[in-house]
Amino acid sequence: MSVFSPKIAILVRRNYWESGATPGNTNSHRSVPDIMAAILQAGGVPELIFQGSPHQASDFDALVLPGGGDVDPRFYGQELGPAVDPATVDSELDAFQIEWTRAALQARLPLLGICRGMQVLNVAAGGSLVQDLAGDHLPQRVLHDPLLRSQAVHPIAIAPGSALAKLWGATRMDVNSIHHQGLDTLGTGLEAVAWAEDGVIEAVEVAAAPWQRGVQFHPEDMRSQQPFQQLFDQLIADVIELRASTTSGKL
Ligand code: MN
Repeated sequence: MSVFSPKIAILVRRNYWESGATPGNTNSHRSVPDIMAAILQAGGVPELIFQGSPHQASDFDALVLPGGGDVDPRFYGQELGPAVDPATVDSELDAFQIEWTRAALQARLPLLGICRGMQVLNVAAGGSLVQDLAGDHLPQRVLHDPLLRSQAVHPIAIAPGSALAKLWGATRMDVNSIHHQGLDTLGTGLEAVAWAEDGVIEAVEVAAAPWQRGVQFHPEDMRSQQPFQQLFDQLIADVIELRASTTSGKL
């Protein structure tokens, strides 16, 4: 049995405690407590990290980028389109998360991006986003019924041979879906490994790193179902294994 409990940084906005839950999860209030619970259940120690923290990515064993509002399109070379509410854009949060993500990409530090977090990962790697999926992808009823957030609303097809397919032993899964943006051009080193039926990218992996992944759905909302908690279990187990192999390599 391992005595090492990986420290997992969850990067959140500075005013996290001052804001409340919003229908679209703009401030990540809905998802962060469930992410923390999933990490704790998996044997990790979650820690909230805010913009302006004196810490850096290398102080942690892994990073989690939670869901939230839209990334400022200027970070991927576009102007704000009509579907992006300027009031919900937080450029300081974007810059903070992108900086930490780039450090993680450089250092091959394990990282899980969830929903907006997967979009931040893509932008940090030089990719771009679809500013609005035009209402075709997000089931609007999900926004107005919080109970539906923990229910599967569309299937995804998973690339055989991907880490996600290996984890689940499946190339198809039904997932929840609470996003109006999606990945457009992929960032350097990122591979799409899952797609919704309309072609929207639902998961990415960095092939060159041991554990850097993004999912467009919210596994933390569905963690009462084994496959979704498994994603967090595997992150923590793999981080422990990575640490063990790195340590023994140094001896
Ligand atoms: Mn979706």
